[in-house]
Amino acid sequence: MLVVGAGGAGLSAAWSARRSGADVLHVTKGSKASCNTAKAQGGIQAAMGDDDSPAQHAADIVASSHDTADPALAGVLADEAPGAIAWLEELGVAFSREGEGYRLARCGGASRKRLLQVGDRTGHAIATALRRALDADGAHIHDHTALVGLERRNGHFRAELDHGGERVQVEAGTVVLAAGGRCYAEARRAGILTTNQPGATGEATELARALGAEVRDFDALQHHPNGGVWPPPLQGYSIPETTRAYGALLLNNAGERFVDELAPRDTVAAAIVRECDEGRGLETPDGRPAVRLDTTRIDPDIAAEVIPYMLRRYRAAGCDPLADPILTYPVLHYQNGGLVIDSAGQTTVPGVFAAGEITGGVHGRNRMMGNSLLDCAVYGRRAGRAAAAAAG
Ligand SMILES: Cc1cc2nc3c(=O)[nH]c(=O)nc-3n(C[C@H](O)[C@H](O)[C@H](O)COP(=O)(O)OP(=O)(O)OC[C@H]3O[C@@H](n4cnc5c(N)ncnc54)[C@H](O)[C@@H]3O)c2cc1C
Repeated sequence: MLVVGAGGAGLSAAWSARRSGADVLHVTKGSKASCNTAKAQGGIQAAMGDDDSPAQHAADIVASSHDTADPALAGVLADEAPGAIAWLEELGVAFSREGEGYRLARCGGASRKRLLQVGDRTGHAIATALRRALDADGAHIHDHTALVGLERRNGHFRAELDHGGERVQVEAGTVVLAAGGRCYAEARRAGILTTNQPGATGEATELARALGAEVRDFDALQHHPNGGVWPPPLQGYSIPETTRAYGALLLNNAGERFVDELAPRDTVAAAIVRECDEGRGLETPDGRPAVRLDTTRIDPDIAAEVIPYMLRRYRAAGCDPLADPILTYPVLHYQNGGLVIDSAGQTTVPGVFAAGEITGGVHGRNRMMGNSLLDCAVYGRRAGRAAAAAAG
């Protein structure tokens, strides 16, 4: 079987497919480390608190999606979240602790504190642990090898791969598409900033659609409410939403709050845009609209633990977020919709499975922060397992 993509979803799929005894060919377009997963900072959601439950987590997903998420897919995601955390810990991911338990933050749209973190490099920690586990298992990832063609022949698939300009054709019984979203390409087209890495261009989705795979909510692209807009080295940087969870406030040019900082992502992003459109925003020195994110309200001791990477990046660019508010504006971030899947990751084309940002339904038209890394671990493993079983 063929696994396409080496972000959280593809790595999880390859891991579980191998555990199911499949012969896996694993390819990825760029270097082994290049993926959106590795850029994820904020954290991963799981109902671990005493006051929380998977049912509450699932209800928050559906409410934040404004009732557009598939309740069955959201339910599986929430139910399997604590198990996914245990699995990641077995692979060596060390989630930040507080006292006897995990350090849990409340993220936008959540009714409970539910966000586990590894400092502010959560995605990097998860991707690194998964690659190490695969490596220790003797698995090989073929990097700089892009899927450029996919045909279905007599119940099998013929995939065309591009390795540095050399074209190779391979046969596979089943395929897991874990090639991520397309926000880098969309941002380039629109001339706007994005948090995404350059490999997020969406061609694997188009190959699946050409085979007849259905998509849903495909037009629903998510803006991260807090993109960096100044200074220039931070333009397009995703300021961790944990800044707001740990006390940072959004302020307009009069120094007034204008939104609940912990509302769902689309609500916060829309409020910032409205504030600027109606003349209550600020302007960066290069003329971009912005509002202030008052990060000076975060306790410095907590900041040193929860946003050390962000502090290093801003300070290296000459700004100290603990001394002065920083400028922010929404940036293109995530593809909410994508390939239709069932709870095993099966698309509407038999034999083609999918997991992660390339899929639609799990988060509806508005994903909550912290649920995408979880999606990779839960549905990546499900898709890998099911594709291995279907490959025979
Ligand atoms: C800056 C940033 C911060 C984020 N923070 C968080 C967070 O705190 N919590 C959270 O839950 N989510 C967060 N997200 C979202 C989350 O990280 C991603 O949505 C998720 O990790 C996507 O995983 P994936 O495996 O589906 O895709 P990716 O991690 O993007 O991996 C896709 C892989 O497919 C490969 N690929 C693409 N096309 C092809 C092709 N044609 N052939 C072969 N390979 C191909 C790519 O090279 C890459 O290896 C963040 C995203 C960004 C960009």
